[in-house]
Amino acid sequence: MDRNLNYFYDEFNLVNSLLKKKNGNCYCGLCVSVFFDRYVQGFFSENEINELRKQNNMRKKQLSFRDLDLINKGKVLERIINEVKQIDPFDEVNPWMLSGIAKYLETFFNKRYLEKEFKDTYLNSILLSIKKKKLRRKQEIRQKEARQREVHKLQKVEREIQKNLKKQNKIDNDIKRTKFLFMFNKLNSIEKLKVVLNGADLPLQAVPEIDLPKPSLLLRYLLKKEFNPTQLAILRDRFGENFKNNKINSWKRLIKVMK
Ligand SMILES: [Zn+2]
Repeated sequence: MDRNLNYFYDEFNLVNSLLKKKNGNCYCGLCVSVFFDRYVQGFFSENEINELRKQNNMRKKQLSFRDLDLINKGKVLERIINEVKQIDPFDEVNPWMLSGIAKYLETFFNKRYLEKEFKDTYLNSILLSIKKKKLRRKQEIRQKEARQREVHKLQKVEREIQKNLKKQNKIDNDIKRTKFLFMFNKLNSIEKLKVVLNGADLPLQAVPEIDLPKPSLLLRYLLKKEFNPTQLAILRDRFGENFKNNKINSWKRLIKVMK
């Protein structure tokens, strides 16, 4: 059998020429298997390929790595390993693809054997730096997670503060309400309604029904004397004349005497 013309010169490195950086940066499983097929097509001469196709009853034109018998596969792999060993940083091959090929070789050879073969080669330094990179990436992820935990802790403290603030506000409001009701209850009915008209510091809902003026004919008379129709309308509005669901009975009765 005659070697492919490429191998006329023994120093020709097919791995090197197929892995030139300009051929792209991808090193996925598909690209790796394409590499092996292209390698096979460059490795055998045309006559050899025709011979192999005849032997295997192959219809398709391209001979792929998978189609080879064990002996020829062995020849190809042996040559690939030898060529990979020759590659150095000045060859400017795609390092990821080189690592992809090394990974693929592990499906045919024992890992320990490959480690011995590739000892002190460029490939070995690539594999080491990839390992380091992966380790660094793992560390970065761990650091990020630690930072995340720190942030969560701070958020929890913040929530705790907000909760306490709310509690404090509630206490403050209770005091305010007590003070207001103390003053409010010293007033007579008309004075109370003047406070409501001018806008109390508290929402009307905060005033217990028992502390509101009692609706009566007398109150109605006094209201008419004290307030003009506009003011009465405002008061009725304050007591929810226009609320759709005014369920407070005392308010409803008050609205009636304000008309
Ligand atoms: Zn790819």
